[in-house]
Amino acid sequence: LARFFKYLFLFSFILLLFGCKAFEGKTYFSGDPLTEDIKMGESMKNEILTNSTEFPVDKDSKLNKYLQSIIDEILKSPEIKNKTVFKYNITVLDRTDVINAFSLPGGNLFIYKGMLRFIDDEATLAAVIAHEIAHSELRHTYFRVRSQEGFGNLIDKAFKKDEYKAAKTAANIAKNLSFLSNSRDNELEADKNALNYLKSTKWYPAAMLTFFDKISALVSQSGNQLDGLLSTHPLAKDRIDALKELSIKMKILPPNEDNLNYYGYQDKLVEFGLINQ
Ligand SMILES: [Zn+2]
Repeated sequence: LARFFKYLFLFSFILLLFGCKAFEGKTYFSGDPLTEDIKMGESMKNEILTNSTEFPVDKDSKLNKYLQSIIDEILKSPEIKNKTVFKYNITVLDRTDVINAFSLPGGNLFIYKGMLRFIDDEATLAAVIAHEIAHSELRHTYFRVRSQEGFGNLIDKAFKKDEYKAAKTAANIAKNLSFLSNSRDNELEADKNALNYLKSTKWYPAAMLTFFDKISALVSQSGNQLDGLLSTHPLAKDRIDALKELSIKMKILPPNEDNLNYYGYQDKLVEFGLINQ
């Protein structure tokens, strides 16, 4: 058992030391079949769900149905190629104090109630979901975990466990989800893809920009409520600028009442008990 903790410590230490930048071995693993993403995602999901204090699952099936309908609408986009393999689904986490959303490999998305409350309109919700779909589509977390095979093997040899167990171990250590941290490049790529997915939907495709404004304003005020969000999805000025530039290039018109669906979304928040009437 002592050996177990020694390796565990070593592994978490290496993670801390290198952060996510060291794991961009994308080119080596892009030949992996998508079924590997599904296996890894399921394994990580199971691990996450055992920690019901950090990740308490909300059981409101109506809320889940509503969010799934948003996902299904976005999935109609021809830009989303892996939808025939990945079963895109979302788990609501019952914590209003956390403003975050994240995705695991293979199409398992998660959103905290705090995020649902923080969002103002349905277009922004669609943008956040599209962004998480993009992380799965682009296999960001999959490649990052896969690139750690060397470290995974170290643990495998010691405990005869498979490499996904190593990833699970890491996910468990990093209770704050720092293991799922995306690099700035990943963020930029996810934003751009999300914009492309959304351009064929009924929602204002550049809603992420108003969302960024809201985050920036809040960060300058207090900040700590958004620590989780910013640790998994770093917000940099170049990310905002790139998205602005792209929306101009794509000739996206300013939003209107219909394609933001502010009132429709506020009604949903009341319906699901997320805000008072
Ligand atoms: Zn992200």
